Amino acid sequence: MTSGELIFLVWNDLVGLSRTRGLPVGEYERRKAHGLGWALAGQAMTPFEDIAENPWGPMDEGRQIPDDATRQRLLLRPEHPPLHLVLCNSLNPDGSPWECCTRSFLAAALDDLKAETGLDLHIAYENEFALYGEELRWAAPFSLDAVRRVAPFADLCVAALIDAELGLETFEPEYGVGQFEVTNGPVAGLAGADRVVLIREVVREAARQSGLRATFSPKPAPGAVGNGCHLHLSLWDEDGNAAAYDADAPGELSTVAASFCAGVQRHVAALCALTAPSPISYLRLGPHHWSCGYDIVGVQNREAAVRICPSPAADPKDRGEAFNIEIRFTDATASPYLAIGAVVRAGLQGVRDELPCPRLVDGEPDDLSEDERGALGISRLPTSLDEALDALGQDETVKGWFTPTMVEAYTALKRHEVRLYTESRPQHMCERYMQAY
Ligand code: GLU
Ligand code: MG
Repeated sequence: MTSGELIFLVWNDLVGLSRTRGLPVGEYERRKAHGLGWALAGQAMTPFEDIAENPWGPMDEGRQIPDDATRQRLLLRPEHPPLHLVLCNSLNPDGSPWECCTRSFLAAALDDLKAETGLDLHIAYENEFALYGEELRWAAPFSLDAVRRVAPFADLCVAALIDAELGLETFEPEYGVGQFEVTNGPVAGLAGADRVVLIREVVREAARQSGLRATFSPKPAPGAVGNGCHLHLSLWDEDGNAAAYDADAPGELSTVAASFCAGVQRHVAALCALTAPSPISYLRLGPHHWSCGYDIVGVQNREAAVRICPSPAADPKDRGEAFNIEIRFTDATASPYLAIGAVVRAGLQGVRDELPCPRLVDGEPDDLSEDERGALGISRLPTSLDEALDALGQDETVKGWFTPTMVEAYTALKRHEVRLYTESRPQHMCERYMQAY
């Protein structure tokens, strides 16, 4: 029986929110080829009831066209109707990708990576979130008690993630009060970003159906433990061999992976405007929180912007296959499509320029003196969204990945969010972001 059910066409927009329009399920097949219309000015929406300055007028419209391969029917509890979702590309009326479509941006970046290097990117995520909505009794961080006290939610969430085949690897209590983490295993290409969008919606739905709310906000309160969403990347050649690994190289980074990391490092300040793109992202980013505060690359270093993750396996093949590169300067206020796409573009530029392997830094860069950091070429990541946007504005390479309209619209939107933040109090804004994400 699907007559009363809706299918939600979902697109992840410039502020990383899943926006939607719904159709009766029975209408889907008939309407999927042309999808649904969407006023382009909608891309200028902040997470709140504000629309930033934008170039689009009342007649400018695109189409949200579903990608059938992403369709999901999530049945969490038999007494609740299933939640039908399908992810969309935002296309121009002629069927070409709209210049502000986040999903098309990632698809094009992955295509270029493949065309120029022959390599596929595999993507996995660590999704940290916090539960709220009822007085959650205190429990020790990472304890079994912390997860068992929310067992109805945890069981529902895990069952739904497994059912939806979203690559669930682990479910665990985290450090913060009410904080949890879901990790998903690697998958090739666009599906890596699709997964994270869908996982967030499954977690949110499981929380709702358990009388709770889940937030992926990077900082639910100014003093709270941050929610990161670390992005794990690996490179694979056409024969299915792990291409990021070289047992004999520094950090075990193959030549191509070393250049990729160096490209990311070179553009990291501008990338932050896309990967940590809300004013409250900078309450999270910073030294001594394991979120990262400096532009370093390091083996196993949780204070590094780019952490090289070696495998515990001894066998060289297994070791190469589990080896991956972790991008830590990301949070869930970023569209995963924009964040990954930008990282891929930066990495690819590093490969084109044959950049040498970055200096691999151990320990806490914040413990070094200014002079020591200077001598090692270590710089602070932006400390505010304004700073990150300034870096974006000055980085011609990064701006060149987008059309001028996209840069202008994105910058205006993000500067608008900065204004809302500075005109309010951090506590209040953390609450608003907590509710939006
Ligand atoms: N919560 C930390 C962050 O905001 C990450 C902690 C961890 O390494 O799991 O990035
Ligand atoms: Mg974690």
